[in-house]
Amino acid sequence: MNYLEIDKNHLWHPYNSLPSKTPIWSVKKTKNCKIFLEDGRVLVDGMSSWWSAILGYNNKRIYKSLKKQAKNMPHIMFGGLTHKPACKLANNLVKLTGFNSVFLCDSGSVSVEVALKTAILYHKAKGENRYTFLALKNAYHGDTLGAMSVCDPENSMHSLYGDYLSKNIFVKTPNMGFDADFCEALEDLEEKLKENHKDIAAFIVEPVVQGAGGMRIYNPQYLQEAKKICTKYDILLIFDEIATGFGHTGEMFAYMHTNIKPDIITIGKGITSGTISLGAMLTTKEISDVISNSSIEVLMHGPTFMANPLACSIANTSIKELLSFDWKTKVLEIEKTFRKELEVLREKKVVKDVRAIGSIGIIELNSDVFAQDLQNFCVQNGVWLRPFGKLFYSIVSYTISKKELEKVIKTMVKAVNEIDKKYEKCLK
Ligand SMILES: *Cc1c(COP(=O)(O)O)cnc(C)c1O
Repeated sequence: MNYLEIDKNHLWHPYNSLPSKTPIWSVKKTKNCKIFLEDGRVLVDGMSSWWSAILGYNNKRIYKSLKKQAKNMPHIMFGGLTHKPACKLANNLVKLTGFNSVFLCDSGSVSVEVALKTAILYHKAKGENRYTFLALKNAYHGDTLGAMSVCDPENSMHSLYGDYLSKNIFVKTPNMGFDADFCEALEDLEEKLKENHKDIAAFIVEPVVQGAGGMRIYNPQYLQEAKKICTKYDILLIFDEIATGFGHTGEMFAYMHTNIKPDIITIGKGITSGTISLGAMLTTKEISDVISNSSIEVLMHGPTFMANPLACSIANTSIKELLSFDWKTKVLEIEKTFRKELEVLREKKVVKDVRAIGSIGIIELNSDVFAQDLQNFCVQNGVWLRPFGKLFYSIVSYTISKKELEKVIKTMVKAVNEIDKKYEKCLK
């Protein structure tokens, strides 16, 4: 069987054509922070599988719980039935997040759909029809239709799906930088809310770091001020913590950089440390009570694989593993290393900005034509990274060794030096 031929003929890859016009590498196995390719090469993983493998791959205890749960009960419908793995996970999440009411679902995007639905039902329960959402420019909230409709209209797939997407309102994003000023963004928010608040169900944001829409870090105080304005107009505040959750920004959840709590959070990605798909929407008792005690009564959503016991067990073990070591110190060390070692790139012509927060190191370029060159260079030099557009970034597992992290960063620096030469030639 020539499986690469099959891949080429039959398999779609993310955001790609069929067959892919860009290289696809074949992976045989993984171990902690290493990816073993079929051709024998070994890559240090600088992506942690799109923010998910926070504890690296093939964690022994996660594997053990997966095996045990698979033998006992891989799945059971959640309609009218319950089980210990789900209850334990709810308990873990309640303790970890400080929220009360937990909806377990298939993935990040689906948790965003559930969050949007919850906000609509909350207002309906109070006798109001509010069908518009507010989101930030540069936002990314997922690939399903509802989630897409709150992604930045210019920086996303909006143009492809056109009028099929719901019309939502986008506000200025706060300036870049953890300590940066955010007055303009706040004014824009206030203005747009003043005008449209009667139609707006919720304001959805990625707290502190905007991910796929630009890898932008901003001031947490913006969120505190935004909360005040939302409260004034009885608009729910949703934090999409799918990327930022489980420690990526140096706090367990990014909202913990602030002194406020949103009304709803969505989580996913790191929840099973990259082992299996799972997402969750969490909200307050007040909000779940408003819906449940109204004539609406029910949160109308219920996927086939809701609260899948395998996924729940894995998530429970992953959370236990995360809490079993000083992850915070490790994440802050990673941040310091990224910040220190990427700094040499700031003066390069092709580089617009370098920045870091938690386990994320970011190089923003002045040109978007180099992504494939950068990736090829990294693979040739034993590192897995997936730059997109002008963004060349790394998100590493908290279990990465010093040596492996050095290798990731050194390779990023070398790769940028390579393209910088080309860029200078282009400028001339
Ligand atoms: C990845 C991501 C999503 C979508 O999650 P999926 O599990 O890929 O559906 C939503 N919001 C943010 C902020 C993300 O980073």
